Amino acid sequence: MKIFKFGGASVKDANAVKNVARILSANGGPKGNVIVVVSAMGKVTNALERLTDAIFFKQEDATAVLNEIKKYHFDIIQQLFSDQGHPIYNEISNTFVELDWAIDDEPTENYNYEYDKIVSLGEIISTKIVNAYLIEASVNSKWLDVRDVIQTDNTYREGKVDWDLTQELVNRNLLPFLENNNNLVLVTQGFIGGTSENFTTTLGREGSDYSAAILAFTTNAESVTIWKDVPGVLNADPKWFDETKKLEQISYQDAIELAYYGATVIHPKTIKPLQNKKIPLYVKSFLNPEEIGTVINDVQTPLPIPSFIFKVNQVLISISPKDFSFIGEDNFSDIFNLFSERQVKVNVMQNSAISFSVSVDNDKRKLPELIKTLQKQYRVLYNDNLELITIRYYDQATIDRVTIDKKILLEVKSRYTVQLVVKPL
Ligand code: ASP
Repeated sequence: MKIFKFGGASVKDANAVKNVARILSANGGPKGNVIVVVSAMGKVTNALERLTDAIFFKQEDATAVLNEIKKYHFDIIQQLFSDQGHPIYNEISNTFVELDWAIDDEPTENYNYEYDKIVSLGEIISTKIVNAYLIEASVNSKWLDVRDVIQTDNTYREGKVDWDLTQELVNRNLLPFLENNNNLVLVTQGFIGGTSENFTTTLGREGSDYSAAILAFTTNAESVTIWKDVPGVLNADPKWFDETKKLEQISYQDAIELAYYGATVIHPKTIKPLQNKKIPLYVKSFLNPEEIGTVINDVQTPLPIPSFIFKVNQVLISISPKDFSFIGEDNFSDIFNLFSERQVKVNVMQNSAISFSVSVDNDKRKLPELIKTLQKQYRVLYNDNLELITIRYYDQATIDRVTIDKKILLEVKSRYTVQLVVKPL
């Protein structure tokens, strides 16, 4: 059994959905069962975030935002299903009723809970459309509500997977069903999970890769393929770098490091479950499905060329005790607690005798509050509009090349990786 994951770009319009059907029916269809994990279509998750904000903060006309989202989906449906009587029209209308209610009802005070309730519908809708289209295209396809299988705690927007319970549900509900089928395509949602009280959670933005890995781990899949609009994993993001090269093969360890430092091609939590069971992960182009792409597996060889990860909009925060005493373990635990409570992720850190510096994403919703709290006890200096460049398998020549016209404010080197917080000059 294999797992395929299709991200938002691969289902962004009617032609893209048709392309998914082509991939799934290539060479007469799948040999063995395939679980197909699908994201929300195109940029729908962003639009649903806007809708959540419109409902919660009442700054924008929520109905207008929802109408845009409805129109986007119904335009796609119309192009895929010429028969206006096709049941998908009703099914999607009924699903949208949940969003109509979300606008009409007064939201609870829990933003993250409301967020998950609303934003998760992007995946519910996309999978219903994809599944219905696959059936039209004669693929032996079925729809699965992943919330009946992937269970999380109730950390809304960042659900922590309950692995034992998820495994139990997979064993009980999913495996016997798969065993009784052959060449079945099971279409299900990425990004979302369910709690024991039947509430919906999300696993963090871009979490569909992780969903694919959870399902692969718990079903002992033979491989995972992530279908993308790039030919594979590149040594740098073409958005920021002109000359990029495709990496043919990557060790799990390097993939974890690259994803951890912010390579957006794979969600950071995806690799570990696959590594634990030595399940290979293929990253392939949905535009050129016959090309080989990249494989991430159990090789031990390091990457042949330096890889770059670039993050903009960084804030470098320097924290020191008000009395200029040394900074020590007590302070660290205190400081990390504050970061963890406010869910602010540290991208790089460094300490000296009297100060501790971190670079974090400039999240306007979290950072001002965090800085205010830190200032109660510490002297806090910060510098924004910075960039963080990480180079895996660096050498001095590559450092010099990427820091031309940049001032280095912080540099952290380990054996294979260098991280540089820089200010453009
Ligand atoms: N739809 C979600 C997002 O855009 C999850 C994903 O696509 O991986 O973040």
